Amino acid sequence: MKNLFYFLLFSLLIQNSVTAQSETPLWIKTIYDNALTSRQAYNQLELLCDKAPGRLIGTPNSFIAVDLMKKYLEDLGADTVFLQKFSSPAWICHSASASLILNGKEIKLHVDALGPSASTPKSGIQAEIVEVMSLNELRQMKKESIEGKIVFFNRPMNPTTINTFQAYSEAVDQRSSGPALAKELGAIGSITRSVNMNLDDFPHTGSVRFSDGKIPTIAISTNDAEKVSQALKANPKLKIKIKVDAEDIVTNTYNLIADLKGSEKPDEYMVVGGHIDAWHNTQGAHDDGVGCLQSTEVLRLFKETGMKNKRSIRVILFMDEELYQSGGKAYAAYSKENNIKNYFALESDAGGFTPLGFMIDTTNLNNPKLQEFQKLLEPYGIHFIIHGGGGVDIGPLKTQGVTLSSYRSDWHRYFELHHCANDSFDKINFREMQLGSAAMTSLIYLIDQFDLAE
Ligand SMILES: [Zn+2]
Repeated sequence: MKNLFYFLLFSLLIQNSVTAQSETPLWIKTIYDNALTSRQAYNQLELLCDKAPGRLIGTPNSFIAVDLMKKYLEDLGADTVFLQKFSSPAWICHSASASLILNGKEIKLHVDALGPSASTPKSGIQAEIVEVMSLNELRQMKKESIEGKIVFFNRPMNPTTINTFQAYSEAVDQRSSGPALAKELGAIGSITRSVNMNLDDFPHTGSVRFSDGKIPTIAISTNDAEKVSQALKANPKLKIKIKVDAEDIVTNTYNLIADLKGSEKPDEYMVVGGHIDAWHNTQGAHDDGVGCLQSTEVLRLFKETGMKNKRSIRVILFMDEELYQSGGKAYAAYSKENNIKNYFALESDAGGFTPLGFMIDTTNLNNPKLQEFQKLLEPYGIHFIIHGGGGVDIGPLKTQGVTLSSYRSDWHRYFELHHCANDSFDKINFREMQLGSAAMTSLIYLIDQFDLAE
């Protein structure tokens, strides 16, 4: 009798251990085997990049992108595919250019509009340039030296910072908050050095926050930022001419949602997603076409391998991560209104390079299950599951108590592509992309099977 008791207790302990379940490593291998031999998602990413580049919210290409991906998810055999409609402000960029005025000649620069820049008059605006390295430097200047001029924020990303996302976050205030400050101090326009670690000719766009009116605001390539800075040293009275043609609209738009029904808890969702929109100047291959296709791969891989999901898998391709982040907010509001139980959410929006690991937004990183998950994924190149943010699109779910997570791949080249024409499909490596798809599917599988509670 006593022996039977110990036997039952031992069996129970074994069952609760992740690694002791011998089929778990086999399922993970099955996921990787399938992902690394199926080119379906890679081919669909090429189609998305080719047919719907510059798919910013409200643009014709944003609707083409949603149609393309809706059909793709239907063909994959999702149980439900639907559009979650919402309305949002949007900004359409028609053109942007700038020239230095040197000895009466115009020297064309590599620039692009930041969103949502104000338009200039058709003939453009022309003024002297005030170069600063930080918002603080600008704040300390006399208002008279800024009024009527064009402010040029020229602090480079710090190349000695190993995590380029960290370097990005340290430099990006010049783009996100600089233009509004320049306006407040009387500038008529602003230029931001592209938030790019590399020296090249690509202007990198991105979002700007304005609160009280706006001014024309552009990004300049890093090579040209160096050039303008040098020219200013020789001639501090140097002038620049800027032209921007853009418009503000309000649009109806959609998040695209596809579900694969769960076998035990169909009303609980394992959310996985990326954003379907991309800036006007790019195919948006790494940002974030790849995140969208890695997310649809989670659904495809569950379905094709016959792996059972207890909860429903919900793929969300969010609209408008780039400009106003309206898609993420709209899904969180929709979840709240409809009492939807999102158990876990994983976002892929940090590039599709060689996998590194996952960030997880939890108060309990010492959860032994997470450590076991990481051990299981280590042979596949997942080096960490560490504390960190989930991402812009799933972020609004945090107040609803959802555990958030984000996929991270090698980050050294990401900011050479981010928000610029260089982010094209030819920069996607099939194997690297699919190692990410498989890693994401494995994490969803592990958390769905074994839960997060200890
Ligand atoms: Zn993105």
